[in-house]
Amino acid sequence: MDFAAERARLIEHISREIKDRRVLEVMARIPREMFVPEENRHLAYEDIPLPIGLDQTISQPFIIALMTEALELTGKEKVLEIGTGSGYQAAVLAGLARRVVTVERLPRLAETARKVLDSLGYNNIKIQLSGETLGWPEGAPYEAILVTAGAPRVPSELVAQLAIGGRMVIPVGSRYLQELVKITRQKRKNKIENLGGCRFVSLIGKGAWEDE
Ligand code: SAH
Repeated sequence: MDFAAERARLIEHISREIKDRRVLEVMARIPREMFVPEENRHLAYEDIPLPIGLDQTISQPFIIALMTEALELTGKEKVLEIGTGSGYQAAVLAGLARRVVTVERLPRLAETARKVLDSLGYNNIKIQLSGETLGWPEGAPYEAILVTAGAPRVPSELVAQLAIGGRMVIPVGSRYLQELVKITRQKRKNKIENLGGCRFVSLIGKGAWEDE
């Protein structure tokens, strides 16, 4: 299978809606096939989410591009991702920001992601296993926060980890269907925008959903 040609075709498809050249260029360089299990590699460049084991998924490329674009990264930011999963989204962020802290609750996924990211030579991504509090308060404040699992509401624990002027993108809604919400933290009233519908696995923890 010609992964490079498949990748170029996917990026061309996404570029019909995503206009941020930097996001497209970074995604055009990352081998998504490395982040999915062997048996799904032939589907790596379809614009769909794929299972990565333990009931979790690597997100749909278009949604990844949309969420990343909304963070308005310039290259200087420290970014927090909640939900490392395969590590693919962290790789996208690492190409557009100064530093990425990514938090995962399932040690086996964190371990696999670590190996792939190391093999690709990333040195500005730190993977942390999640603790009591959502996110990674030790590293706060962050100029951008990306949550790649769905929450019942915007967790105040995460807004607190956002710098003033910082952006957070998070799927909010029911267990099965959410809206992508963008919050810009401001000194007084935070700015809130809706970026459209989506479907993510659940964000688990205090301030989000219970483990089922
Ligand atoms: N961003 C990933 C996809 C993530 S799927 C990628 O690019 O592949 C959502 C992930 O969030 C799952 O791996 C799940 O285990 C994790 N997760 C759920 N609740 C979490 C929490 N409270 N803290 C950290 N990770 C969490």
